Amino acid sequence: MSDIRAAVLTGPGAPPTIQMVDRPRLGRQGALYAIGACGVSEADLALLRGAAPADATWPLTPGQRAAGILEEIGADLTEDSLGTPLRVGAKVLVPAFAPCLRCAVCLHHPAQATRCLHPVQLRGGWADRGATDFAAHPGARLYRLPDDMPLWLATLVGPFATAQRALRRAQEIGRFPPGATVVVHGTGCIALLTVAVAQEMGAGRTIVAGAPEDGFARLCRQFGAEATIEADTAEETVAIVRETIGGLGADLVLRHGTSLAASLAMLRDGGSCIDFGGAAATGTGELSERDLTLLGSATHAPSDLPPAIRMLHKARGRYPFLSMLSRHPLTTAGIAEAARSPAPMALLVGNPDIIGP
Ligand SMILES: [Zn+2]
Repeated sequence: MSDIRAAVLTGPGAPPTIQMVDRPRLGRQGALYAIGACGVSEADLALLRGAAPADATWPLTPGQRAAGILEEIGADLTEDSLGTPLRVGAKVLVPAFAPCLRCAVCLHHPAQATRCLHPVQLRGGWADRGATDFAAHPGARLYRLPDDMPLWLATLVGPFATAQRALRRAQEIGRFPPGATVVVHGTGCIALLTVAVAQEMGAGRTIVAGAPEDGFARLCRQFGAEATIEADTAEETVAIVRETIGGLGADLVLRHGTSLAASLAMLRDGGSCIDFGGAAATGTGELSERDLTLLGSATHAPSDLPPAIRMLHKARGRYPFLSMLSRHPLTTAGIAEAARSPAPMALLVGNPDIIGP
């Protein structure tokens, strides 16, 4: 069997090189899969800029959004993490984030598994093959994908799960009623997918604010946003958003790295804001005076992925997901191109023949 072709960083800040690495011997709970493509995430870009995450062991291969096809499975790995039978040739997703399953957070607050005290990040997606030993990483999951789900679409499952988790949490506490007027405030891959998820979960109106009129704003409209709004100042953007919505303001604002004060200003009194993080904080006076709810939501836990796979698969014909991706070959030039890509998500393509139409 051939070796694995992978992008390798020898240490913090070292330029990526493409190397042939040994194909690992699989244990009884191991899986080896051909990687169709892997999305380039903010964490990957940080590695290219020289970041040295606490859990990193060097040399390392970046890549946390890979989807692939099983080539080899250990004798004891007969089912995926939901009990679906596995076979060579099945399409699979291995989430990068593996909680430890032993700390106080994992034991007592599994829905907040992203806050695990000793998590492991399974990187390695920037390669033509990946391998995971589930005996060494009991918190790691393996999900079998629908046979007719193209691998390029599956690379979006992680960011899609982040968007879906946040909206599901708002729905669970009654802050995202059917027909709600939703404002997505900000740009980026997760903001764009939030436009799709909000509609799939029953939003009445979906508006995007703070998206400069470029390819991103156009994509948002192609994803079903009723309007995209951007003005020179945050105050003007808020004024146009409120004018577009009419009435009292938005029921729910999803803030993606923009001004929190501006996000709150778009809400009706009694409305709610989901905060995906980033940018400046605000005083808390406004929260109590206007009876607002602010809900923070950080990435997604492994258990958030199965509903994301189901919803993304079901919604695949309703949104132009392919248009949000740029594709780049697994070469040093391809990595440089992917890092500069203006697309909401860039893909490094390990095996162009299997990523799907
Ligand atoms: Zn833990």
